[in-house]
Amino acid sequence: MKHLKLILLMTAISLSATALATNPLLIPYKTPHQTIPFNEIKTEDYFPAFQEAMKQHNIEVDAIVNNPQAPTFENTIVALEKTGSLLIKVSSPFYNLLSSETNDELQTIAEKISPLMSEHNNSIKLNEKLFARVKSVYLQKDKLKLTPEQQMLLKDTYEGFTKNGANLSDADKVIYRQLSKDLSMLTLQYGQNVLKETNKYSLLITNKDLLKGLPKDLLDMLASNAKKAGKEGWLLNLKATCYVPFLKYADNRDLRRELYMANSTKCMMGGEFDNIENVRKIANTRLKITNLLGYKSYADYELIDRMAENKTKVYDLLDKLLTAYKPTAEKEYADVQEYADKNGAYFKLQPWDWSYYSEKLKDEKYSLNDEMLKPYFELEHVKKGVFGLATRLYGLKFTKNNKIQVYNPEVEAFDVTDEKGNFLAVLYTDFHPRDGKRAGAWMNDFKAQWMDGKVDNRPQITIVMNFTRPTDTKPALLTFDEVKTFLHEFGHSLHGMLTKCTYQSLSGTNVYRDFVELPSQIMENWATEKEFLDGFAVNYKTGEKIPADLIQKIKDSENFNIAYFCLRQLSFGYLDMAWHTIEKPFDGDVINYEKQAMTSTMVLPMVPNTSMSPTFSHIFSGGYAAGYYSYKWAEVLDADAFSVFEKNGIFDKKTADSFRKNILEKGGTEHPMILYKRFRGQEPTIDALLKRNGVKL
Ligand SMILES: [Zn+2]
Repeated sequence: MKHLKLILLMTAISLSATALATNPLLIPYKTPHQTIPFNEIKTEDYFPAFQEAMKQHNIEVDAIVNNPQAPTFENTIVALEKTGSLLIKVSSPFYNLLSSETNDELQTIAEKISPLMSEHNNSIKLNEKLFARVKSVYLQKDKLKLTPEQQMLLKDTYEGFTKNGANLSDADKVIYRQLSKDLSMLTLQYGQNVLKETNKYSLLITNKDLLKGLPKDLLDMLASNAKKAGKEGWLLNLKATCYVPFLKYADNRDLRRELYMANSTKCMMGGEFDNIENVRKIANTRLKITNLLGYKSYADYELIDRMAENKTKVYDLLDKLLTAYKPTAEKEYADVQEYADKNGAYFKLQPWDWSYYSEKLKDEKYSLNDEMLKPYFELEHVKKGVFGLATRLYGLKFTKNNKIQVYNPEVEAFDVTDEKGNFLAVLYTDFHPRDGKRAGAWMNDFKAQWMDGKVDNRPQITIVMNFTRPTDTKPALLTFDEVKTFLHEFGHSLHGMLTKCTYQSLSGTNVYRDFVELPSQIMENWATEKEFLDGFAVNYKTGEKIPADLIQKIKDSENFNIAYFCLRQLSFGYLDMAWHTIEKPFDGDVINYEKQAMTSTMVLPMVPNTSMSPTFSHIFSGGYAAGYYSYKWAEVLDADAFSVFEKNGIFDKKTADSFRKNILEKGGTEHPMILYKRFRGQEPTIDALLKRNGVKL
């Protein structure tokens, strides 16, 4: 028996060794540009590849830790930067496919991998000997004569440890770990409460008269909701797909109010999913953690890695926008009220009336809808337009390469070359929804760019969207929003493709979070430029160019109630900052505190006993704590940056060159404000955004 077991074991070892030697993820790719051989990789290859890659990573890290030589920038910081390349190689197709071409098997592997990966990453971040070497280099930083990029790498590496408590005493480390654990439990519970409370609510309507005003597809959805629940009639709920259009279209004011109140009192009326106490606990736990790490407030800690740098600058932006937009927002409110009065409203508009009357007024003013624009935006035309924009601005050429393997026949791969014909990047495009693809749109890389000595490893980038697919009788026609989405993700991809950096962790889109949307959002500005649209936006049936008055209508309708929306975003920004700038534990009244924080931004009446904080998942269970302002920050940046193109010409080569050299090529190698000022000649102001929004001071 024993003998047999040994033989079996040996077979297993030699089998797995052979399996590793032939695992396509673990051997060099022999494909064009060493792209991923999707056709050769089988789902079962991932798990053993992950295990092997983590093992390799540990060996590489150990070699740094056990290096008998004194720590230097090269033998520690650069060496650490270079570790884990196999793990990146294995992770990148895996996590990309998990979003764009997933299945049950991949999901099962992801569940198995996820705890192993976090344990693996923690073991490196908590490696005290490794940190001692990093710190020793960091402490000599002023004597090392490093380039700005090297300084950034050193700072990032060091902070990657210290932001996770590496500098704490042993006793404080224990406290830190406990607090981090508490925080992750609290944020998880908070998020689940929001979800469960949202899902708990439903309202059955059996009298169709109560649903007047709703479009047919919404009615159908509500009827199918009821049917699924085994009921007759129409079932309302608080999910965005029902709540948002219901408030927009339902003629019945009582029902609008009912739904609004149900939504705005979620997780605050007692009961098992109440989040009021969680709000206090999360804010206080974050404060404790950051106090332990030596910061006064959570915002102080969070903002060190942001273009905004500190809370003063964040508040400065919020305050400036508030002052600028409030008078216009009040005028917008008055206009909608006037319209409502004329149409039989005998009351002061409440939050549950706002979207209803706004929508009707907007429709009356612009009568613009998706169907009117779609014929001008056939996907194949839009593709030519978008790629062509990169050709005009940056001299890029896109050549379809059928030899590159793709993960789905719908996906296309392009060789991207520069004006001299040099190879720059591979770009994959994936446009349509499928089972197994998550909703939304995103850019990601399959391979980042970095320099290996003198060898420039060029990147492999993917953009993934969910645009309506063509039918037998109609090509794929995009809505205007989809055109902007395409430009947006394509902008991220330019950031990824044009990058010229030394270190992978700083290249491409690896920049501060409030800077990352500049390259993407700036591209959306071209969407309403006639000169750009004329190049491709022609009616797919008649070939007629998109009419100028239609473009103007798009612009005007985009600015409809723009100041109101701005104030709404500001209100969330202020609320976020209020919770994350506390310097003492908060034990007061959550609802009152929230009111104080938001009151200056309010245009609509504030409804008593409603609250945002118990359901503000972005900041209490998502990644936006002390970061909500960045939505507005990025808008200010993209408008300010685009104003240079507006001034010099939207295809001006010199302006494009400067944007490319100072922003797109630089990744995160220097502080974003330094990069931005090199392009712009000054710090950004809100003026261009005001102008774009038609808001006058
Ligand atoms: Zn984006």
